[in-house]
Amino acid sequence: MIIAIDGPSGVGKGTLAKLLAKKTGYEYLDTGALYRAVTLYMIEKGIDCDDKDSIINQITNISDNELLKLTANPKIREEEVSINVSKIAVYQEVRDFLYDFQVNFSKNPKGAILDGRDIGTVICPDADIKLFITASPQVRALRRHKENKEKGLESDYQEVFRQLKARDERDASRNIAPCKPADGAIIIDTSNLSREQVLEKAMKIIKNKS
Ligand code: C5P
Repeated sequence: MIIAIDGPSGVGKGTLAKLLAKKTGYEYLDTGALYRAVTLYMIEKGIDCDDKDSIINQITNISDNELLKLTANPKIREEEVSINVSKIAVYQEVRDFLYDFQVNFSKNPKGAILDGRDIGTVICPDADIKLFITASPQVRALRRHKENKEKGLESDYQEVFRQLKARDERDASRNIAPCKPADGAIIIDTSNLSREQVLEKAMKIIKNKS
């Protein structure tokens, strides 16, 4: 069983995917963390994320082990990575480099849940269930802002909103693997739903399929 969950940033895909993994026992992969890991690797090497040639030259030097280690580094959630990640995600070579890792993961015999932007469209077009999670940018920015505050981080709502819109724009308008609902995806708008209501909706969809 493969469950593909796509949607823009700050929509709660990760939270939903983790709760579903707990309920179903399927393995979970946060594919955004892979793109963030590559971004952190480049930043730590002093490479400018707009410098496509250098990124392409360096990328094949990253081993699977190193990639996994970087995904566990809390620095991947920091602002510098968040601002740069959607720049490196537009390069086909970066997407190709991460493709096999994701496809191999999806074949986990226990079942797999992957969340990202192109899981239902590119990585697992034959997924058993495809969900596209959405919410208004205002609601998403407010959720992110509250999360930041709860974590004790400095946060300015207007700035959070601005960055989220910029990332949305880059992710949705790129030519390669843009963030959009896959054919056959079920769209869940979470703007007015609680975490529990979203989980309930998704579980219903899964039960109907199995
Ligand atoms: O999910 P998260 O917000 O952590 O993803 C960070 C960035 O990685 C996204 O804004 C997007 O640019 C990129 N990404 C992608 N394809 C995926 C997952 C993430 O392009 N499947």
